[in-house]
Amino acid sequence: MDCHEVEGLLSPYLDGELEPAVSTTVRAHLDTCSACRQRLANLESVGRMVRRAPYYQAPDRLRARLTQSRTRSTTRSQLLAWAAVVVMVASLSGSILFVRSSTRAARTVDPVDVVAQEVVNSHVRAMMGEHLFDVRSTDQHTVKPWFLGKLDFSPPVTDLAQAGFPLTGGRLDYMAGRPVAALVYTRGQHTINVFVWPEASDAVRSPDARAIRGFHVRHWTHAGMSYWAVSDVNDTDLDQFVHALQQ
Ligand SMILES: [Zn+2]
Repeated sequence: MDCHEVEGLLSPYLDGELEPAVSTTVRAHLDTCSACRQRLANLESVGRMVRRAPYYQAPDRLRARLTQSRTRSTTRSQLLAWAAVVVMVASLSGSILFVRSSTRAARTVDPVDVVAQEVVNSHVRAMMGEHLFDVRSTDQHTVKPWFLGKLDFSPPVTDLAQAGFPLTGGRLDYMAGRPVAALVYTRGQHTINVFVWPEASDAVRSPDARAIRGFHVRHWTHAGMSYWAVSDVNDTDLDQFVHALQQ
């Protein structure tokens, strides 16, 4: 049996998995070959390390062992084996820490905040001229039926021209993981986007106000629908608009 064959049998040898005759042959080779004895010793210490060392202590201990073994003029392959273990342990503990911290982060993110960001992103994209209208009309009786068959709900569509916020149209949008209605209103030169979709809970939520990247955002729920209004109009105008829409 040569060194190459023995090397392939060292792991099962160590675990006592070899046939007695094969095990005896390996032992006989080890008695005469210091290179294979060294490989066996490496294998043993790696096994001990993996079994016993808590993963977060391992990098320091292994670093110490690496420094020690370097002074003992050991082989290049031994150093490589240690380096591989260091990398494995470090990446394992790294991913455990990553999973822990992202779990913690996920707990503190309010889904409503995520939707608020989406609402502003969609408003910005629409205002940049990408896609503001699928149906362009100031007539609520044209805009409302346009959504028929395109959504699994019928969004309330009201022209608010009398209150100073004329309806100018609407489009299909995609928000919070579902298709939604986007209604477009104006106030002077300003555009107000209103996103509407069915709300899972029946709870009525009075408008909450937030400002995201310079845009004013209002969110409320009413009659089983979730509403988001976003615009660059001032707070007073937007509150007035929300009030008019809720009538
Ligand atoms: Zn050998």
